[in-house]
Amino acid sequence: MPEAQPGKVYLVGAGPGDPGLLTLRGHDLLRAVDIVLPDSLVSEEVIALIDGPEIIPVGKRYGSNSVSQGDINALLVRLAQEGNTICRLKGGDPMVFGRIGEELRVLNDAGIAYEIVPGISSATAAPAYAGIPLTMRGVSAGFVCVTGRRASTAGSPDIDWPSLAGLNQTLVILMVATRIGDITDSLLEAGMDANAPVALIEQATLPGQRTLVATVADIAARAGEAGVMTPATLVVGPAVAESHHFAWRSALPLTGRRVLLTTPPPVTAGLGALLCAAGASVISRPAIEVEPLADADQFAANLEEGLEATDWAVFASRSAVDAVFNALESRGRDARALGGIHVAALGTGTARALEACGINPDLVPEEFVSESVVDGLLAELDADDRVLVFGAEGGRTVIRDRLNNAGFEVTRLDAYRTVPTAPTMPEVQSALDEVPDWAVFTSPSAVHSLFDSLDRAGLALPETTRVAVIGPITAAAAAERDLAVAAVAEPHTYAGLVSALVAESEPRDA
Ligand code: SAH
Repeated sequence: MPEAQPGKVYLVGAGPGDPGLLTLRGHDLLRAVDIVLPDSLVSEEVIALIDGPEIIPVGKRYGSNSVSQGDINALLVRLAQEGNTICRLKGGDPMVFGRIGEELRVLNDAGIAYEIVPGISSATAAPAYAGIPLTMRGVSAGFVCVTGRRASTAGSPDIDWPSLAGLNQTLVILMVATRIGDITDSLLEAGMDANAPVALIEQATLPGQRTLVATVADIAARAGEAGVMTPATLVVGPAVAESHHFAWRSALPLTGRRVLLTTPPPVTAGLGALLCAAGASVISRPAIEVEPLADADQFAANLEEGLEATDWAVFASRSAVDAVFNALESRGRDARALGGIHVAALGTGTARALEACGINPDLVPEEFVSESVVDGLLAELDADDRVLVFGAEGGRTVIRDRLNNAGFEVTRLDAYRTVPTAPTMPEVQSALDEVPDWAVFTSPSAVHSLFDSLDRAGLALPETTRVAVIGPITAAAAAERDLAVAAVAEPHTYAGLVSALVAESEPRDA
């Protein structure tokens, strides 16, 4: 049997935890390789971005016993020799305390090709997320990054604490959680000013980020009282004193809040991004999926015919915009098919989706429920205008019904359908285990889908999880499931939803 061509190994930095800090190259590889071997430091949020490849965890956190470095080296070589492309995924930057030297050596020895994809190291990300400039004119002319682990193996160089204590630059010390007392003792013995400011940054860039600012003399005791968790990074030096001016992260309104989002992607990208920007940690569990209609060709034909015979086109959602433009494209058509037709959009998100397709809607109602589109349309329509409405299969028919009642000729075309997702029990359970502060719904179907799967699994939302909805129709669906709605978006937009969460969330220490 001919031997397999050896595969390639990509040594990829996963960044410090926040998935937004992964590089584009790293993200691409998480979909393109055959196997991903993540370290224990790689955050769950980044693991969730792996789409397709087999995952072989080689860190303690995932329940497997920690695999020894020797075994990891052997595994890498074996898998590559079998012809697999492999992503060796390491926390932060692989070149910073990533034990990459050993892996590179065995790959060299075995003649296996590799590529190194840098990542954002916690050495710079932790200070950045704590608002500590590593260098600053007149304050700190440089920075040094060292390990907090005392050299324990004979022959490896120990840390030259006296040189570090005298540098008057920023010192970044990794691997500190259980050694803070030893480290500060070493610095004090080496002559460092006991009052020099120190920041301990725990779980930087992750939802549980905490920053403790103290002095070299008292940080160990303060960390003990606060019960610091790993991973944590220590930053020492005059630049730390600046952090209270620049602590941008703890100042965000939803910092430390966990939000369970049930909206399907790609829509989630918009709402998820807004929530993240407000500091929230988003647990994405789409409860519904948007799918093309069973008979997409029939829809495309109906669409072309409908557009020939209408004066207005009303889009009820972004998904309707996507569906219409996909159908037009399938017939070799484009935005010109709507030339000369007036266009109305339900919601600013829908309006934006239309704009992306080259259509500037003529009407975007101020209130974003179907009822107000009708009022807006009634004000604009000429007596004999014909209206074509695009919505979801089985969706609301308020616009059609009211316009019909007002004597207009209206056709409603189902443009797409939403189907409940079928999450596995572990997927549902893991979302609940994170004890979200909020569960957020942007459609009645998402409410029903989530609670159907909870009911099937005999589970319930944690008592402390509050429910937020985008508008009155979704609120009514929540009421049908006996849920108390704690926040309703006002206006009924994604931005309104984020504001409602902020308004209803108690301020909390970061
Ligand atoms: N290659 C990694 C570092 C590996 S050593 C990098 O470039 O970031 C592991 C140490 O990194 C931890 O003990 C801790 O000191 C630091 N670290 C990693 N992730 C961190 C995080 N999210 N917050 C604070 N420190 C972190």
